[in-house]
Amino acid sequence: MSTFTDLGLSAPVLKAIAALGFEHPTEIQQKAIPQLLSGDSDLVALAQTGTGKTAAFGLPLLERIAPESRTTQAIILAPTRELCLQITTEMQSYARYLKGVSIVAVYGGASIQEQARALKRGAQVVVATPGRIKDMISRGLADVSRVEYCVLDEADEMLNMGFYEDLTDILSHTPADKSTWLFSATMPDAVARIARDFMHHPSEVTVGGRNESTATVRHEYYVVGGRERYAALKRLADANPGLFSVIFCRTKRDAQKVAEKLIEDGYNAGALHGDLSQNQRDLVMGAFRKRQLQLLVATDVAARGIDVDDVTHVIHYQLPDETETYTHRSGRTGRAGKSGISLIILTRSERGRIRALERITGRPFEEKPLPSGMEICEIQLYHLADSIRNTEIHPEVKTFLPAVKDLLEGLDRDALIAKMVSVEFSRFAEFYARNEDPKGSTEGQRGETPLPHGGQARFFINVGERDGLDWMILKDMLKEATGLGKEDIFKVETKDSFSFFSTEADVAPLILESLKGAHLEGRAIKVELTDGPPPGKGGKKPWKKGGKKTYGKKGKPYSKGPGAKGKKRKKTTGKR
Ligand code: AMP
Repeated sequence: MSTFTDLGLSAPVLKAIAALGFEHPTEIQQKAIPQLLSGDSDLVALAQTGTGKTAAFGLPLLERIAPESRTTQAIILAPTRELCLQITTEMQSYARYLKGVSIVAVYGGASIQEQARALKRGAQVVVATPGRIKDMISRGLADVSRVEYCVLDEADEMLNMGFYEDLTDILSHTPADKSTWLFSATMPDAVARIARDFMHHPSEVTVGGRNESTATVRHEYYVVGGRERYAALKRLADANPGLFSVIFCRTKRDAQKVAEKLIEDGYNAGALHGDLSQNQRDLVMGAFRKRQLQLLVATDVAARGIDVDDVTHVIHYQLPDETETYTHRSGRTGRAGKSGISLIILTRSERGRIRALERITGRPFEEKPLPSGMEICEIQLYHLADSIRNTEIHPEVKTFLPAVKDLLEGLDRDALIAKMVSVEFSRFAEFYARNEDPKGSTEGQRGETPLPHGGQARFFINVGERDGLDWMILKDMLKEATGLGKEDIFKVETKDSFSFFSTEADVAPLILESLKGAHLEGRAIKVELTDGPPPGKGGKKPWKKGGKKTYGKKGKPYSKGPGAKGKKRKKTTGKR
């Protein structure tokens, strides 16, 4: 196995690498570094994120620039602000023992004047997002006319994000005889075109094969009914207690909704998508990095450049439209030689896409049944026993032990253990006792409650005028919770402490699923299919089940987790 010294790096760089704890160069580093140190030829490198590609171009780049000159000698273009900052931080740590080297990040969403000042002080290496650097070049705030090295990182993502024009514009301001190093996880036509149009006879290095995903990632898929994605996600999360995962959704709205539902259901989850402000996104990413969040629910665009090691699972809540995006998503796990799992939730009609994914990744995909409630309970039980065994006893506990022992007086060891594990176990056992196990993928769509076929469905909901609702507020609340339109929910009737509404029968599963776990003023909302009373009439009350009900403050809006906004309107008649 080769060492970093074998690759021809200098003493200060080797010292920085040793300080970072890198012992051996990764495959891409072994292949790219000697070439980039010795020759001036252009390079196309096919490597996923997580393979050590930043050091593969960063280390030789630092060796080749002249620290005594303050002109910008190298520009690294990356698709997102996050990636841009990561590259900068990483390069700065490689340059720790190199005197006089300045690496500056330039990206949108931050003060352009401050970035311009940093460039003016002199930066040999500029790491930039295409939009911002193009802007700065055109305003005379950045000068790339004497650049000797240009790195295009995650070139496929930059092109996916529509940066082709910006890239060609930026490159047109750089000298024709510079060296260009292009790094990309995949080689779609657009990237090949960049290589053809802007590079001179590039040499090519590939790790893990063209368009292949890392060999350390295992791929599994679960076939579910269209409306069962969330229930399936919950099962997968419960069956993997140590999960540290990025969950990918296709739209911003789905990412937000899924994250909200997970939070309500007691998971440490957060959403990451383009509708959040930069500040909110930084907070979410910070919490994920610190492991305060276990589940990060993200869109593809927002998740680009997420560079968090030790992600155990990537979960595809929905498959991406572009097959190649799958490679990027699953590259978020199995990084730096660790193993990772990519789990796909898909419907029967999407099953055909698995073949294409197997082709593009060069890896087998395994179909698996969703874990049953009992399996999940068992996994959770062992996990709990394991955490108890591995928990360090806090020194302060001693102070309270005599009193605690008094409280538990009379319980023998077995009873004590059984009671302890039941604290957590009961939560899962009760949930899965209420929610039927999946009957297998061949059944197609399966509701957890018997559902009406054809015609209309009538629902009972345990909130009413006492909760500050009238038919309009309730309808708004239902629209917001389900994503249905105003025409889809009709015959809304509010009573004092409960209400009724109707929908077409085919959206009934959506109603039941969307409102599962919803709360109004801290009170769990219950929705049931009912056959009475018919709209506008009285009738018997099959829904009255007894049991004490507690109510929140009157007129307070419905809440579905952080970020959900309720609506409050003037009260109107109780029927529609
Ligand atoms: P990248 O593919 O550049 O995003 O790198 C993925 C992760 O691997 C980063 O956290 C790097 O710091 C780390 N890394 C890069 N090269 C090595 C190496 N030779 N040994 C161990 N870790 C590395």
